[in-house]
Amino acid sequence: MTGREPLLRMALRVEQDIFGVRQRGREVAAAVGLEHQDQIRVATALSEVARDLLRVVDGADVTFSLVEEVAGRPVLRIDLAPVRPLPDNRYEPQSGAVARLVDTLGLAGSEGDTVVRMSRRIPTAAAALTTARLAELRAELGNSAPASALDELATQNEQLIAALDEVRSQRDELSVLNAELEETNRGVLALYTQLSEELEETNRGVVALYAELDEKSAQLRAASESKSRFLANVSHELRAPVTAIIGLGRLLTDSASDPLTAEQAQQVDLIRDSAADLLSLVNDLLDLAKAESGRIEPEWAEVDLRALFGQLRGTLRALTLHSEVELLVEEPPAPAVLRSDEVLLAQVLRNLLHNAVKFTDRGEVRMRAERDADRWRIVVSDTGPGIPPELHERIFEEFYQVPGTSRRSGTGLGLPYARRLVTLLGGTLELTSAPGRGSTFTVDLPVGGV
Ligand code: ADP
Repeated sequence: MTGREPLLRMALRVEQDIFGVRQRGREVAAAVGLEHQDQIRVATALSEVARDLLRVVDGADVTFSLVEEVAGRPVLRIDLAPVRPLPDNRYEPQSGAVARLVDTLGLAGSEGDTVVRMSRRIPTAAAALTTARLAELRAELGNSAPASALDELATQNEQLIAALDEVRSQRDELSVLNAELEETNRGVLALYTQLSEELEETNRGVVALYAELDEKSAQLRAASESKSRFLANVSHELRAPVTAIIGLGRLLTDSASDPLTAEQAQQVDLIRDSAADLLSLVNDLLDLAKAESGRIEPEWAEVDLRALFGQLRGTLRALTLHSEVELLVEEPPAPAVLRSDEVLLAQVLRNLLHNAVKFTDRGEVRMRAERDADRWRIVVSDTGPGIPPELHERIFEEFYQVPGTSRRSGTGLGLPYARRLVTLLGGTLELTSAPGRGSTFTVDLPVGGV
């Protein structure tokens, strides 16, 4: 490709020529491969400059050529050589928007003369214009003749410039919007950062809290273990001397021993009763400590509930012989078997029946069993004083006794122990009761054990 030989030359002398220049400008732009939009830009810029020059210096010679830029990219160059020198050797387009339609627009020196020169870069894809193709172009451009419609062209140009200005103002609006969006984004980002910092802070707090909680529960576990150990040791140590006191008391009141005065005998009986109470407390403590430290291992076996109920009926009947309470142990529905530890289960039920009889002055104490799918429910109910709902859980705490009931001898360890055992057997022990309505303790056990 060579830039020496121009593609086309035209003379601009009268107003009609402006239309011709515009039209040829568009044709040349199309021929060298500029896009439609760019063709219009070039043609518009050219006709505006042509109008200026016609007015100021009565015309110009217009030359279209294809030149190579320093960077190696082809450029469409249009030189307008004024027929008379420009006043003050200056050129300023009438419309400010014109210069933006092309890449460059200004004065340039061409072969000793000053020309108005505009240029527009050609996309690289269209750059492969061979010398042969250029010659072809020249021939094509030389053949076609320009048309005319001057007034229409002027309006068209104005409209076009207005449209392009509109595009520019839209672009300005867009950049304002963009700035606002950026501002908003910065705000959101700041908020987000603040939020994540707060979240991180909260998380750190929660983590610290959990660590503290873990530490506290470890301490609690350790405390509970040492309490169980302490109870087990103390109880164990106490058992021997208390048993000895009971034995000695028995010896003192034995008919083979020296006779005691009536008062002495009464005092020895008191000592023996107190020692017996102490022994039962020690035994209860020992049982509970054993259950809590996990040293009780249930011995799983088939348990016949009917046999167990019969046995309890027999041993506990004596308790109600001289009272106004009737003990009713119902026959469980057959087949009354479950997998459990008979000794532990008997201990639990004996404890519940014992309590029921102990706290009931008149009416009945009833034990019955019912099967519900894979569970056995054993219910011990009485017509006793009942327990207020707010104490339903407290009575399962160690040493707790409902106020006003402590005179009926007891340690407050029976129920916590019973609940421990039921848990070991894979079940639950619950209470339903209200003052004046009696109490109902329900042992709920899995048929198949744990
Ligand atoms: P103890 O019977 O040795 O006092 P328990 O742990 O067995 O200890 O019972 C705790 C308390 O629950 C009792 O002191 C009593 O106040 C109350 N209680 C237990 N069973 C009944 C019952 N059937 N009716 C009324 N109160 C009861």
